[in-house]
Amino acid sequence: MNAPYPWLAASWQHLLATRRRPAQALLLAGPCGVGKSALAQAWAQTLLCEAPLPDSAACGSCAACHWFEAGTHPDFHAVTLQEKTTKEGDTRMATAIEVDQAREAVDFVRLSTYRAGHRVVLVNPADALNVASANALLKVLEEPPLNTVFVLVSDQPRRLLPTIRSRCARFDIGLPPVGLAADWLTGQGVDDAMNLLALAGGSPLVAQGWGSTELDERRGVLEGLARPDRLDPVTLGERWKAVSPQTWHNVVYKWLGDLLAVKLQGEVRFNRDFADVLGQLGKQADLAGLLALAKMQAAEGRTLTHPLNRSLQLQAWLIQYRHVFD
Ligand SMILES: [Zn+2]
Repeated sequence: MNAPYPWLAASWQHLLATRRRPAQALLLAGPCGVGKSALAQAWAQTLLCEAPLPDSAACGSCAACHWFEAGTHPDFHAVTLQEKTTKEGDTRMATAIEVDQAREAVDFVRLSTYRAGHRVVLVNPADALNVASANALLKVLEEPPLNTVFVLVSDQPRRLLPTIRSRCARFDIGLPPVGLAADWLTGQGVDDAMNLLALAGGSPLVAQGWGSTELDERRGVLEGLARPDRLDPVTLGERWKAVSPQTWHNVVYKWLGDLLAVKLQGEVRFNRDFADVLGQLGKQADLAGLLALAKMQAAEGRTLTHPLNRSLQLQAWLIQYRHVFD
């Protein structure tokens, strides 16, 4: 078994070197979209494999590997966000790992192992543990039973309780080198990999996740924002109310970030395909107005919901945006 992604090769070798004496609580930390989840899965499989290869990696063909790949290995337990049904009957992803899930994991590690090898508990995303579930888990993290390995995965390790963090051996995964990530994206059939990678803040899996609908919507929004002098808030508010709040937020937040970067440092970070127009607008923009908009956008990002009157909200935003260039 190789590293799940080419940029993880060194991290993977580093983990494999610890297979004989693995950390009992490992925290895989790093930005979103760099392959931490895949690395954690590969590591769990490797710990459970009953016929590891000479380099210590999972063989992919023993009974344990087959069970793992089928999601049925009895000594593996995953704790993750679950789908919930709302009162209205919609299914939504929960925003926290509940205390019952943590208690199940605690019960699991107190059983004896089925296969007399390791027992692995994966907690992903660990930053979704709430105080109650983190405290429940802490009891077993403090003194893990023999042969038990916890793997915690986190984009935002600072959100973990300090007591949890201090129990874990931390292993950081950074953003991959741009060239390596761009080559991989190109190999996955992504056009314009460099641009997309910049747009995704350097994260290859985030870049890969941008679908063609989102890319078209992004272009539509940016073409509107690129001409503040011609922008008609009423027409655009109506047109853009169909864009998902998440996409809108991502696109606008990066656009404002670029305008600020041009103004303060003279360079575009995300939207390189709009570099010329950003260069012009950045010079023209009022710094205080831009900062106010960016602050508003950051606040919106924390509560991404669909308001009752989306087009009115967009119109108000667009009027404020237009004033930045008056
Ligand atoms: Zn195996």
